[in-house]
Amino acid sequence: MNTVKLQKRIDRALCAVFPRRCRYCGKVIIPERQICEDCETNLPHIPVPVCPLCGHTKTDCTCKQKKHKYKSICAPFYYEDAIVQAIHRLKFENKDFLAEPFAADMAACIRREYADITFDSVTFVPFTKRQMRIREWNPSEALAKALAEHLGLPLEALLVKLYETKTQHTLASNMRTGNVFGVFDIADPNAVAGKTVLLVDDIKTTGATLSECAKMLMLADAKAVYACAFAITKRKTVGKKTADIKSRTP
Ligand SMILES: [Zn+2]
Ligand SMILES: [Zn+2]
Repeated sequence: MNTVKLQKRIDRALCAVFPRRCRYCGKVIIPERQICEDCETNLPHIPVPVCPLCGHTKTDCTCKQKKHKYKSICAPFYYEDAIVQAIHRLKFENKDFLAEPFAADMAACIRREYADITFDSVTFVPFTKRQMRIREWNPSEALAKALAEHLGLPLEALLVKLYETKTQHTLASNMRTGNVFGVFDIADPNAVAGKTVLLVDDIKTTGATLSECAKMLMLADAKAVYACAFAITKRKTVGKKTADIKSRTP
């Protein structure tokens, strides 16, 4: 029996015990597939061209060129349909192995949108020490770690989160900047100066959290900060679905 046939037999035997699931929606799939047929055709990709300031496709952009402390943002998906389930599986079913394929989606987006940028470092929106004790791992850090490997860049924990915050969804969008104001600090100022940083979060909603993190990095003399998320909440859908996810984050 050749190696390919043997591998297929092993895959089938394993799948009989542990059914293979679509990495996005979680549906059981046949061993030969990686993702389900629905997700193969219906994932909410953000089509090019995209607005660099809000990350939406140009026809969905309503940001009126509102600037943030990061230079631009990109993400492979809108936060809707199977991507809601994908993030739920990653964050709340503790399926940390999903960070690797999700980071591959982000890496493809970064290679396209940030083709001209030379990054020095990949970092992430941190948890407080208490959050880390409760959750044990930070999904944004896991995405950043896998992304750094895909891009061949160093992962550095450049930021620390000092205080707990109210969950962002409980606040009106104009209150969200205030909610995260002053809660982040730099871990080591000497590690930031002069660097072009790729800042990673799992979901971007208003951009207030990423902007506050970028502000701290720029105050520590970063050369530039570019943001990336796995999913972006479409402006018109900011609300209940995001609330469901964020409300479960301690
Ligand atoms: Zn699926
Ligand atoms: Zn825009």
